[in-house]
Amino acid sequence: MIAPPPRKDTLELIGNTPLVLLKGASEEAGCEIYGKCEFANPGASVKDRAALGIIRDAEASGDLKPGGCVVEGTAGNTGIGIALVANALGYRTIIVMPDNQSKEKMDTLRALGAELVTVPPTKYSDCNHFVHTSRRLAEDTEGAIWANQFDNTANRKAHIEGTAKELWDQLEGRIDGFTCAAGTGGTIAGVGMGLKEFDENVRIALTDPHGAALYNYFANGELKAEGSSVAEGIGQGRITANLEGAPIDTQFRISDEVGLGWVARLLREEGLCLGLSSGINVAGAIELGKQLVAEGRKDARVATILCDTGFRYLSTLYNREWLEAKDLPVFDWLAD
Ligand code: PMP
Repeated sequence: MIAPPPRKDTLELIGNTPLVLLKGASEEAGCEIYGKCEFANPGASVKDRAALGIIRDAEASGDLKPGGCVVEGTAGNTGIGIALVANALGYRTIIVMPDNQSKEKMDTLRALGAELVTVPPTKYSDCNHFVHTSRRLAEDTEGAIWANQFDNTANRKAHIEGTAKELWDQLEGRIDGFTCAAGTGGTIAGVGMGLKEFDENVRIALTDPHGAALYNYFANGELKAEGSSVAEGIGQGRITANLEGAPIDTQFRISDEVGLGWVARLLREEGLCLGLSSGINVAGAIELGKQLVAEGRKDARVATILCDTGFRYLSTLYNREWLEAKDLPVFDWLAD
């Protein structure tokens, strides 16, 4: 394998992430399951791509001027991506975040130099929701733009031009299915649109956690949520601008218990420490793989997203007391 040439700019470290064959998931599905290592981005999550895409787009449109400020409402990872990109380009960052997200994400944002505003979690229809709070803050701040990751399609464009093309190249033009969960929907919509441009037969599946409304929307046209999930960064209740026109062929719903089971197996069997959305994505990829195999496509290849590092959840997913308090299964090695 040839090591990549030196990059001329730290921002070039975003994207072009490795793709890895997941052994346990492939065995379970009976076909090849690949994980795109988005935790390998400088901010350790898939959201670095959206952060860079949104900031570059705002510069190109003239909305973001030298020395300006980027304001965003985020579950954390987008804020981390924005703070790093903004540092590299000389902008200030203000992040609004619901106060029930992991402490690691809040500590990280402060450590990166972002100004952090936390608000109580509430419904999207409430004007104090973190997204609306961030929009108002941007309006009231001199020289600021509102990144607006949910409805700014520069987000999914980063996945059409980046993630989808990379997957196509890395799998040498042979990919049968792709699936992941949606937060803003930028990843699923962008990768779905990008892959369909290469081959319209690639099956695109939404993998939804419990407590989100998209599974029902794509299954029977109704935005209806059932149950709940502790997964951070995923679970959407509306059709964001990024989700509009997303080419979703099928959908799966995955519980936290099943997702956590894959988080545990990926760590203990394959040495990957990931967050819960990655576990849910891998479980969804196995469902998609099984579906393709049942149709006789025994050599199917399915890809999904390994969204962020598990180091961001040491006080939650990897903490026995936290798991017990949520009535979730405790990983064997943490149990005694
Ligand atoms: N997983 C994690 C951990 C995230 O932070 C996010 C972003 N909110 C996602 C998955 C979903 O990505 P997207 O916003 O592109 O739908």
